[in-house]
Amino acid sequence: MAVSSSSPLSRTLRIGIVGFGPFGQFLATTMMKQGHTLTATSRSDHSQLCARLGISFFRGMTEFIEAENDVIMLCTSILSLTEVLKSLPLHCLKRPTLFADVLSVKEGPREVLLQVLPEESDVLCTHPMFGPESGRDGWNGLSFMYERVRIRDEATCSSFLHIFESEGCRMLEMSCEEHDKLAARSQFLTHTIGRILSEMEIESTPIDTKGFQTLIQLKESTIRDSFDLYSGLFVHNKFAKQELNNLVLAFEKVKQKLEEMNEKSDLSMQPL
Ligand code: NAP
Repeated sequence: MAVSSSSPLSRTLRIGIVGFGPFGQFLATTMMKQGHTLTATSRSDHSQLCARLGISFFRGMTEFIEAENDVIMLCTSILSLTEVLKSLPLHCLKRPTLFADVLSVKEGPREVLLQVLPEESDVLCTHPMFGPESGRDGWNGLSFMYERVRIRDEATCSSFLHIFESEGCRMLEMSCEEHDKLAARSQFLTHTIGRILSEMEIESTPIDTKGFQTLIQLKESTIRDSFDLYSGLFVHNKFAKQELNNLVLAFEKVKQKLEEMNEKSDLSMQPL
């Protein structure tokens, strides 16, 4: 794993966004602020929002692909990546293009991108480790993971990475496999605990401790993300299955310890 602090010569890019949902919109705002030219396409019609942001929105995939973007950034849900990628008329690409994905799992997308994209396309797999909530006040100090999977056009790749570097992100170069291993223990676990707390319908009380307020915040921030996103963290990360098992086992162990204590205390309360 390498932490990069280089400051490459960067240029403004033409970036095409595939999937203009909450995260695509969030990234687009900063990219526009930096002076990049943006186009977008998505399953739903986001043309009015795009018009307000100064982004050209294409309902048709062919016009989108023919728009000669330097970078096509894939911001679609984890579950729909393969279907979306296969629906792009890639034969209409007018020149070699950098495809960069921002999906929250990495090994699966890496494989799909290598399988589906034309050999002349460059591939950069990334995961900005933040979202609209945690990155609301800027990206300074937030982590940005990436793997340069197949890069020949160094200038375009560096300029794309510079978008995040220049906002102060902690740039972490690591393999997609390493990412998935770490993210299963951190991000997937966080989301799972948040979802469990939501199932329990926990709410603030008049006597909240700081710890409980943290749990409420966790519940609220996890359920703001779509269920597609959460289930994608499980379905498309082979390490997540083991973490779910570990969580169940740990819960059972804690429960068992409490039950043992309960039995002991029941015995000690017996009248002599
Ligand atoms: P999401 O629910 O994961 O994805 C929503 C996007 O996927 C929308 O653009 C939606 O299109 C598209 N989509 C969903 N199902 C589709 C289908 N069957 N066919 C075509 N398009 C489909 O929500 P998100 O938060 O915007 O995340 C987008 C990506 O960024 C995900 O891969 C996620 O893992 C990644 N990411 C998210 C965050 C975050 O904090 N939210 C952080 C880092 C990375 P329409 O809007 O047009 O319906």
